[in-house]
Amino acid sequence: MTSITGSIITVCSGFCRSVADIAVPPLCPLCRADLSSAPRRLCSACEEQLPCLPERRCHGCGGGNDSYLELCRDCLQCGGRPWSGAVSAFPFAGQLREAVHAFKYQRRTSLAPFLASAMAEAWHCYGEAPAPDLIVPVPLHWLREISRGYNQAGLLAQWLGRELRRPVVNALCRRRRTSQQARLRIEQRLKNISGAFTVKKPSIIAGKSLLLVDDVFTTGATLSAATATLLAAGAAAVYVITAARD
Ligand SMILES: [Zn+2]
Ligand SMILES: [Zn+2]
Repeated sequence: MTSITGSIITVCSGFCRSVADIAVPPLCPLCRADLSSAPRRLCSACEEQLPCLPERRCHGCGGGNDSYLELCRDCLQCGGRPWSGAVSAFPFAGQLREAVHAFKYQRRTSLAPFLASAMAEAWHCYGEAPAPDLIVPVPLHWLREISRGYNQAGLLAQWLGRELRRPVVNALCRRRRTSQQARLRIEQRLKNISGAFTVKKPSIIAGKSLLLVDDVFTTGATLSAATATLLAAGAAAVYVITAARD
C-alpha cells in the first residue's frame, strides 16, 4: 500500500470512527460506562474524580492563580502575554490528562463535545461578554493532520462554535512542520514555533475579535506565535481558550 493510500484510509477511518462514536448513545465520554439509565454528562465515578481549577484564575493563561496580582507566576515570569485574555476548562491532571491524551493521539474524537461544552462553560464564567466575533483553531501542519486523521483543536473549535454561537474560521495555516512542542524546553519551543504560522485571508479577520482554540496550554509558545500572526494580519483582539492548563 502506498503511503498516500494509507493516509487516505487513515483519514476515512478517523472520520467513520468519529461518526460511530457520536452515534452510540449514551456513554460516559471519559470511561465509556453506559449512561442510558440516567443520562448526564459523566458517570458519577468520573464526575467525582474530575479535577477542577481553583476559583481564582489567571487572566493570562486561564490556570489557577495563587499570586496577589492578576497574573500567575508563570505569566509574570514570561513578561505577560500577547492576547487580551485566556480561559481554560480543566487542569491538565488526573483523568483529564488521560482523556486529552486519548483525544489527541488515540482517535477518541467522541471527547470533543464534552471538552467543548466545559470550555464554553468556563468562557461564560471567566471570559468576556459577548464572546469574540470569530473562533479560530490552532492548525496542525497538513502532513500531521493527514497522518492523525483530524486536527484536535479544529474539532474543539467546531463544537465550541455551536456552544457559543459563533462562526469558526480556519484563518491560520501552519507553513512548516515543527518538532513536537511537548518534547522541548520553553526557549526551544519559542524558537521552534517562531514564524510557523501565516494567515490565509487577512480580510476575513481584519478588525474582528478572535477566540483562538487549542487543546492544552503548556508554556503558551504556540499560542503566542499564532496570536502575533493574527494581530499582525489586522485582528482587533485575540483571546485564547484551551481545554486544559498544564
Ligand atoms: Zn465515567
Ligand atoms: Zn498565568
